[in-house]
Amino acid sequence: MAGCIYVDIDDVLAQTARAFARVFEQEYGRRIDLEEIESFDLGVSLGLSPASLDDFMKSVHRPEVLAEIEPMEGAVEVLAAWVDRGYEVAVVTGRPPGTEAVSREWLSKQEVPHHSLTFLDKYSWSEDLFSGSQAISIEELSRRSFSLVVEDSAEVACRLAGALEAPVALLDRPWNRSSPRPEDELKGRIFRCRDWQDIGERFAQP
Ligand SMILES: [Mg+2]
Repeated sequence: MAGCIYVDIDDVLAQTARAFARVFEQEYGRRIDLEEIESFDLGVSLGLSPASLDDFMKSVHRPEVLAEIEPMEGAVEVLAAWVDRGYEVAVVTGRPPGTEAVSREWLSKQEVPHHSLTFLDKYSWSEDLFSGSQAISIEELSRRSFSLVVEDSAEVACRLAGALEAPVALLDRPWNRSSPRPEDELKGRIFRCRDWQDIGERFAQP
């Protein structure tokens, strides 16, 4: 095995923010452009109170919403090239573990090359919001060895760059551009990538 590559699902393999914006428009009657989502905290980006944000998070994590998310352009091709070169692809998500069935179905339907699916406690979901939300900790994940991490959350990218001895490809998204930029905070460990083509070219053999 050439090495193991960590790949996030939401807004890395799947165009999740776009789907969430559709649900937001249906429920709140307000259209939101992806460029307006400047904070990863949707309470801030969408102007929701903590209670409304909890309702919204439950709403967007319904299986019928998650099942319909469009794939991110170019991801499957890059993953397939890594697998051809002998890499293991570990899909690691911060979704609540209750979404496991729909997440597995989606990965299979979209023909995403991968060897495993891990639920990581990235966002500390409260038990009130998603019951049975046990996921592994970053510390537990750090016992595994990774050659590369692909993430879109600036905060998670920084935490992982510290915990895992692996470079992080940060997919450029409106919500990870605010200063201080993670790639400036952790120079030489976090690399901002424009899109999947960029990731595939810069990390052909991570
Ligand atoms: Mg993500």
